[in-house]
Amino acid sequence: MTRKILGNTNHHRSRPAIIALAALLAIFIAAPQFLADEPYARSREYDLQHSKIALRFDLDQKIILGEVTHSLSIFRDGTTKIAFDSVGLTIQSVTVNKAPAKFETTADKLIVPLPAAAKAGDKFDVSIRYAGKPSKGIYFILPDKDYPDRPKQIWTQGESEDTRYYLPTYDYPNARLTTETILTVPATWITVSNGKLMSVSDAGKGLKTWYWKESVPSSTYLITVVAGEFDEVKDTWRGIPVTYYAPKGRGDRLSINFRRTPAMMELFSHKFGVDYAWEKYAQVMVDEFVAGGMENSSATTNTSSSLVHPKLAPEYFTGQDDLISHELGHQWFGDLVTTKDWGNIWLNEGFATFLETIWTEAQFGKDQADYERWNGSREWFGSSNLWDKPIVRHDFDDSSEFDGNAYGKGGWVLYMLRHQIGEDAFYRGVKHYLEVNRGKNVVTSDLAKAIDEATHTNVDQFFSQWVYGAGAPKFELSYTYDNEKHQVILAVKQTQKIEGRVGLFRVPVEVEITTASGPKLYNITVSKDKQTFPLPAESAPMMVLFDKGGHVLKSAEFHKEKKEWLYQLKNAADLADRADAAVALGKMKNDDEAVAALGETLRNDKAWGVRATAADTLGKLDGASASKLLLAALDSNDKPWVRSRAVSALGNFKDDAGVAAKLNSVAKQDDSYRARAAALQALGSVKAPNAFATLDAAVAGDSPDGFLRNAALRSFGSLGDDKAVPLLLQWSAAGKPIDSRTAAINSLARLQKDNQDITKRIAAYLAEPHFPVRMAAIHALGARGDATAIPALEALLKSDDLSIEMAPMIKAQIARLQNPAGGKPGAHPGSGDAGEESAQAGDEKFTTEPRLEKLEHLLQEMNERLKSLEKRLPPPKQ
Ligand SMILES: [Zn+2]
Repeated sequence: MTRKILGNTNHHRSRPAIIALAALLAIFIAAPQFLADEPYARSREYDLQHSKIALRFDLDQKIILGEVTHSLSIFRDGTTKIAFDSVGLTIQSVTVNKAPAKFETTADKLIVPLPAAAKAGDKFDVSIRYAGKPSKGIYFILPDKDYPDRPKQIWTQGESEDTRYYLPTYDYPNARLTTETILTVPATWITVSNGKLMSVSDAGKGLKTWYWKESVPSSTYLITVVAGEFDEVKDTWRGIPVTYYAPKGRGDRLSINFRRTPAMMELFSHKFGVDYAWEKYAQVMVDEFVAGGMENSSATTNTSSSLVHPKLAPEYFTGQDDLISHELGHQWFGDLVTTKDWGNIWLNEGFATFLETIWTEAQFGKDQADYERWNGSREWFGSSNLWDKPIVRHDFDDSSEFDGNAYGKGGWVLYMLRHQIGEDAFYRGVKHYLEVNRGKNVVTSDLAKAIDEATHTNVDQFFSQWVYGAGAPKFELSYTYDNEKHQVILAVKQTQKIEGRVGLFRVPVEVEITTASGPKLYNITVSKDKQTFPLPAESAPMMVLFDKGGHVLKSAEFHKEKKEWLYQLKNAADLADRADAAVALGKMKNDDEAVAALGETLRNDKAWGVRATAADTLGKLDGASASKLLLAALDSNDKPWVRSRAVSALGNFKDDAGVAAKLNSVAKQDDSYRARAAALQALGSVKAPNAFATLDAAVAGDSPDGFLRNAALRSFGSLGDDKAVPLLLQWSAAGKPIDSRTAAINSLARLQKDNQDITKRIAAYLAEPHFPVRMAAIHALGARGDATAIPALEALLKSDDLSIEMAPMIKAQIARLQNPAGGKPGAHPGSGDAGEESAQAGDEKFTTEPRLEKLEHLLQEMNERLKSLEKRLPPPKQ
């Protein structure tokens, strides 16, 4: 699945929200233990082969009425009962082979005794009639008095262990079954489920019954049910139906955001040598989705925030393609071949993340793929909680297995593997892996074995350090030139602390030495803590690149003279090396030459990622010369994805009248909405004298999806002017757009902190059904530091209405309020009580937009995982 931002469904690229959310994330990470998903696959008593699932819905009560018939085959002689996972469901009756049967229930099981001890191979049809008002697994998004016009939607989210909340079943990935799904819904509704649509028939009383049939087996966490008022757009790929759905009224946003789906299906089918395996491919966008996207087999569900307004969509270079390619990639890696247990979840998520890169390379080119990888590396190194954990692990009882190792590092490792064994061998190995494991569950050794079988390349050592080991190499580098021997003596140290699962790394590295006669590439292998490599060079080098192009997940401190960094910034062929140079030069304070070079890069580099990195870097450098260059760049009208970064960078220059004036003018008028939103935010950050009026006007004005209004509402928190409180209260109120409300609530968290009336208003939002509003309110209460909020939070914690994964979050905020001095015991560095203030203060940590987007991904993941956390109450978690 793809991870979703917390509490902000639409403007998920906006920075301040993300900063506040980063604080949330840190809090989750700091929170103590929780009950984890089952780390190891279960031993099975029976083989669940087919489930026929019929569901009806009572919308008023948000109740489901279900009947499921499981066809299963017994694995062991002497089996006397069959146990299904079932939580919170009322079981009405059970039959075994059509005969009424006894049953018993526990907190999390339905147990059906068999009439007599069964033998291995015996087959049974077990039918279960049940009802329930699930707290998770299935979600009702319905109009209410505050939002009377919202399209009705019912959707499920099974991963990781939530299918059992709406369907009594075998709920662990290590089983595969085919399904029929029979959904009876109002006649005007549309439904989507796994497999092929067989029929839609009249069911009387204004109802219709939709009959879906999935003939390719997959795991129960991949079962999906979506029903509601949707617009549909139809497409095809090689004759297979490809469909897109949006909540009714937003169908005009489908094509612009999703139209490249068939091209992705073609690319992936071609690259893997295994065609897309399912009978159709549907993508359904739903409101208030608890993840970014979920790869249910043949029928992905995505957050409706991926339905970017047609006027905003062109302002995002890669559009929604990361999400779309990620979920599509799962149809092979995750759905067709499925991890056997949660400990190997990277076989799903690492591949899906890697496939985002594959699509990016093909569609947007090498620079874009390089840039995403470069950012991904920085993001991973910035997540210190990931460092000591291997990718494959089964000890995730104090953190989620769906972490930045399974995703970001997993994707990186596959990229490195491809780079090291070569494109041809890599895809031969992957094809073999898919073919031999098709329709099966896998562990990591299956991948290593398949690569070995297909290519005779032994990847054991590679897997040992990158997948079963933790960390990554941290290099300290320097070189000298020996005039007599005509050699560069490259000194390489691995400086990572060798402890726990972190060892020394053995990595092949490409070193490029550029002299007056041009560049030469050398392959070396680093394996020790300290090594020197003499490499031929006719004359003293102008540039030495270690790991040219950035193909190794690493950090490197390369001691170079300024002139070499300047040369590298201008002349290195690959994006990663130029971006590294920009970052290195950004550490040279008060250096006019460095500033001027970054300014030139901002204007002229051919890769937008390097231009934007130069903008970020200039933003961190003090001084009028840096701000002047950023201001000048705004006159050149670069693309929105660069322009908005230059504007954001200006948000670091306080007390600069020229900056304030320019931000003011961009905020009011610019071709780019993203630049205007960034300017609104920056006005708050620099606390410009005229900021209040401009923000106020932006709140009153109109823009696509309230894009500018929400940016302004968020900015009021940074501005810190209490005059904004009435306006923020107004926009936080029920009935206003959800995104505006969360923006306003986030800002209220930071204003008039001693005003208990504000605390009360925010506390009242805890009772609302809207997940993003609740999450924003919970966090705001913690951030305000007003202990009078504790009873409201405690009451919420006790309610049985914690529909969605909020308990750990609530507990963390209560702890924060009870211990305002901070320093929660056991908190990780950079975590916890920091709240948005310190996130704000540590601005540069979150400066670059891609970094924010990655962070957002991580937050999406957190959001998703919170769901699993809830059942792990009492102790909060992650
Ligand atoms: Zn995923």
